[in-house]
Amino acid sequence: MITYQNIKDIQKLCREEKLEFWKVVELADAEERGVPEEESFDMMSEMYKAMELADTSYDGSLRSASGLAGGDGEKLHRYNEEGKNICGPFISKVMEKAIKMGESNACMRRIVAAPTAGSCGVIPAVFLTAGEELGIDYEQMTKAMYVAAGVGAVIAKNASIAGASGGCQAEIGSASAMAAAGLVSVMGGDHEAIGDAAAFALKNMLGLACDPVCGLVEVPCVKRNVAGAVNAVTSAQMALAGIRSAIPVDEVIDAMRRIGNDMSPTIKETGLGGLATTPTAVEIGKRM
Ligand code: SF4
Repeated sequence: MITYQNIKDIQKLCREEKLEFWKVVELADAEERGVPEEESFDMMSEMYKAMELADTSYDGSLRSASGLAGGDGEKLHRYNEEGKNICGPFISKVMEKAIKMGESNACMRRIVAAPTAGSCGVIPAVFLTAGEELGIDYEQMTKAMYVAAGVGAVIAKNASIAGASGGCQAEIGSASAMAAAGLVSVMGGDHEAIGDAAAFALKNMLGLACDPVCGLVEVPCVKRNVAGAVNAVTSAQMALAGIRSAIPVDEVIDAMRRIGNDMSPTIKETGLGGLATTPTAVEIGKRM
C-alpha cells in the first residue's frame, strides 16, 4: 500500500523503492481510487489537455461582469509579439498564459481549478510554456502533473489550499509550489530538488493576504497568478542549480499553516481588510 502524509514520505519511497516522485503519486492515486495505473494516467493526461484547451480558447474581447477583469492577456500577447518583452521568451510566455487563465476564470470560461479557481493560472502557465518552449511531450508533462498533485495533496493535508482558511499564501502560494516542483521534475531534478523547489516557492509567498476587491476573484487575483507562476520558474531554476532550502519543505508547509492560523480574519477572503478596504476598492463597490 503506497501512502504518504508529507513530502518526506514521498522522498523516502523514492529512495527505498527506487521510484520516481511522480510514480509514487500515481500509484497512491490508483490504489486510493481502485483503478489501474493506466486509467489514473489517462485521467491526469486529460487534465493537462483541458488546461491546454482553456489556454488556446482564451478570448481577449471578453470582460468579467464587474468589468474589472479581461483583455490584459491580449495586451501582454501583443507586447510579446512586438518583441518588446524585457523578461525573455520563456518568462514572458509564462506571464501571458497566467494572466489569460486568470481572466478566463473571471469571465466564467472553462478552466481547471488546480488547486483552486483563483489560482488556476499558475500551473498551466508554467507547464504549457515548458511543453511549448522546451519541447517536452505530453507524457512528461503528465508526470509533472502528478508531481504537482502530490505536493498539492500534502499541502491540503497538512495546511490548506483555501484562501478563506489560510490566506492567499494557501492558494497562489500552493499553486506556485506545485508548479515549481513539477517543472523541476521534467527538467531532470531528483526528489530532493523537487522538494527544495516547492520550499522556495512557498517560502516566497508566506503571509500573503487574501483580500479580493468586492469579494470577486479578479483584483488582485488575476495578476497574482503571474507572480505565482514566475516565482515557480525562478524557484525551479534555483533548485536545479543545486541550491538547497535551509528549511525543509514539510516545515515550510507547517509554517504556512501556522501563519494562516495567525492571520486576522479580515485578510482571509472576508473583504474586510487589505486591498478590499482601500478607498478605491470601496468606490468600485459603490458603483456596482
Ligand atoms: S486573493 Fe484570495 S480569492 Fe484571490 S487568488 Fe488569492 S486566495 Fe484566491
